[in-house]
Amino acid sequence: MGKSALITGASRGIGRAIAEALAGEGMDLYLLCHNNIEMLDELACRLTERYSISCHTFCGDVADSEFIDMVFSNIDSLDVLINNAGISHIGLLQDMTNEEWNKIINTNLSGVFYCCRAAIPLMLSSHSGRIINISSMWGSVGASMEVAYSTTKGGMNSFTKALAKELAPSNIVVNAIACGVIDTDMNSCFNDEEMSDLINDIPIGRLGKPSEVAQVVLELASAPEYMTGQIIGMDGGYI
Ligand code: NAD
Repeated sequence: MGKSALITGASRGIGRAIAEALAGEGMDLYLLCHNNIEMLDELACRLTERYSISCHTFCGDVADSEFIDMVFSNIDSLDVLINNAGISHIGLLQDMTNEEWNKIINTNLSGVFYCCRAAIPLMLSSHSGRIINISSMWGSVGASMEVAYSTTKGGMNSFTKALAKELAPSNIVVNAIACGVIDTDMNSCFNDEEMSDLINDIPIGRLGKPSEVAQVVLELASAPEYMTGQIIGMDGGYI
């Protein structure tokens, strides 16, 4: 039987690139998105035809534990879990509402908890598995105007390290990729001038590509099990 992977936030951006890369390795996929099921189904159709894999799609909120439990009730075995879905919030902390705070915490952190909690029993039964969390460099160093976002990614990094320790005896590997600025819709809030300032701060002189993050995911998915609990920097030398 082929290997399988579940990717959250797979309809676009980094998640979509990861889906394409894992499909290219012949993995069967469970793809989740929040709203755009048409776009996700179109991706699933294309990957199924091109790579002769199976693709199951689900549409819902990762912050809804009942939705995540429903998704996992359709899955018998899972080799790789990619916690990619996430949102950003740009603004002064003093202006942030309770609703905005809760939304980012629930999406970026609780969603990861719900997915891991549901995936772990499947991985325990095969005494193997890979969990890869898509984090941010701001989780290590913090970003002004992105305090809540930095908090969620810092939490994700601690979650990664702690869960790696908890699951290492069961041969389940947990790592995170701390991305720098990657060229996706998440950064469409920046105007040309802000983007040019941002790029000037990146030593390599350009944004990262979603396909480059996907390449690191592929490498982590096949790296030795001894490499666990790591936060892998992927930021063009920014940090
Ligand atoms: P994106 O906005 O293009 O994609 C985010 C994905 O998450 C979308 O598919 C969206 O539908 C999904 N999503 C958002 N809220 C959701 C919810 N409540 N339930 C289910 N799905 C939800 O952005 P991206 O850049 O591809 O981001 C992917 C991940 O990479 C995020 O976790 C983000 O924090 C992280 N990241 C991105 C950058 C960057 O510069 N683009 C940098 C560091 C980390």
